Amino acid sequence: MSKAFNPFEMAQTQFDRVADMLGLEPGVRELLRWPLREYHFTIPVRMDDGSVRVFRGFRVQHNDFRGPAKGGIRFHPQETADTVRALATWMTWKCAVVDIPLGGGKGGVICDPRKLSPREQEQICRGWVRQVFKNVGPVQDVPAPDVMTNGQHMLWMLDEYETLAGGHFPGFITGKPIGLGGSLGRTEATGFGVIYAVREAAKRLGLDIGKMSAAFQGFGNVSQYAAKLFRDYGGKVVCVSCWDGRDNASYTYRKKDGVDPDFLMSIVDSYGAIDREKALAAGYEALPGSEWIKQDVDILVPCALENQINAETAQLIPKRVKLLAEGANGPTTPEADAVLRERKIYVIPDFLCNAGGVTCSYFEQVQDNMNFFWEKDEVLKKLDTKLTNAFNAMADLVEKRGVYMRDAAYMIAIERVAQAARLRGRA
Ligand code: NAD
Repeated sequence: MSKAFNPFEMAQTQFDRVADMLGLEPGVRELLRWPLREYHFTIPVRMDDGSVRVFRGFRVQHNDFRGPAKGGIRFHPQETADTVRALATWMTWKCAVVDIPLGGGKGGVICDPRKLSPREQEQICRGWVRQVFKNVGPVQDVPAPDVMTNGQHMLWMLDEYETLAGGHFPGFITGKPIGLGGSLGRTEATGFGVIYAVREAAKRLGLDIGKMSAAFQGFGNVSQYAAKLFRDYGGKVVCVSCWDGRDNASYTYRKKDGVDPDFLMSIVDSYGAIDREKALAAGYEALPGSEWIKQDVDILVPCALENQINAETAQLIPKRVKLLAEGANGPTTPEADAVLRERKIYVIPDFLCNAGGVTCSYFEQVQDNMNFFWEKDEVLKKLDTKLTNAFNAMADLVEKRGVYMRDAAYMIAIERVAQAARLRGRA
């Protein structure tokens, strides 16, 4: 049986390993191991049936030495304080590894938006902002969308923030709709960033991306655009998977000659659930969700939730797999990492691989500050440069020091934050 990892313990285990490698001084080490601040609160909502339901919300600010804390807000029924802590920690390393002037934060609400009306969701968004209003903002902590939250949720939150603050502060939150302070390219950014990194990794491995095949887990925001760009580069998308809330099960959708991301995007709902009947009618197979990892492909791209590749499932990875691109946050447990290392699978670690989203969020803030917005091509070009540079810095360190990819990315990120702590005189 594989160990069920607490995500925050996992984040700390990864940090400790690299802190040892870097020989971090005890003060800096203890400071960076824990969030700087945490807010836990309740959000009472008058439901459509007249009853009052109380939701639990969180905001964790792991670090802000390099700039305001930055990170998404997740709506999920299984949300926990430790998941939010872990995600906030990973945001600190993510912003540092792509070298943008932001720190790490994350928020969440324990709820299932699939079972809430738009009005009830709006009340949760506004209630969340009211509870942390004094502790978030453009120069303190900047939220963004994450699992099961989108531009509409961000706009309700922005509206509440601006109502309380009495002015326009579009830099309070990112992932806003286009025309209302949002950046072109944000929707594609995370998924495209995953594939920019895959393209660079393929070059390092001497492989042609156009001749490679990939299996994707999930078919939400990240996976959709990653699958699309991978296909546009000539790669074959063998399968994608998703969670189906109707029968609480996950499914892997596969088609003999490769799946068509554009078609599947036309039959997926806003939560990333593919319409099974329409997929079956179009000749797709609907296999159990666990099948995605067993496909005979060159690249695995987990883009769903954490803990998906563990000691048990890592054993199912076929011999052919050469590359693991972690689109999701924390998809691989430390036990599975050991298996990947031994098998010499090239891993693009989550906080670098999926940093396209936060990089574009940073571009969104920059554009908001200027009140001048770039064309989509310009955004994507800047994004490609940032991701390519970050990937190459990691890959160079891997080659120079012979360290594991995740360790190399952590070494770069942690050293940058540690240096900020030292220079600020915090440790
Ligand atoms: P999303 O809600 O849009 O999509 C999630 C997808 O995963 C959906 O298709 C869902 O059906 C699927 N899924 C859920 N449980 C599953 C299971 N057990 N098996 C198979 N599929 C399952 O979320 P997203 O925005 O695409 O985020 C996915 C991951 O990427 C998360 O870990 C998130 O934290 C991370 N991430 C997202 C962004 C972003 O910009 N959206 C940025 C960085 C990291």
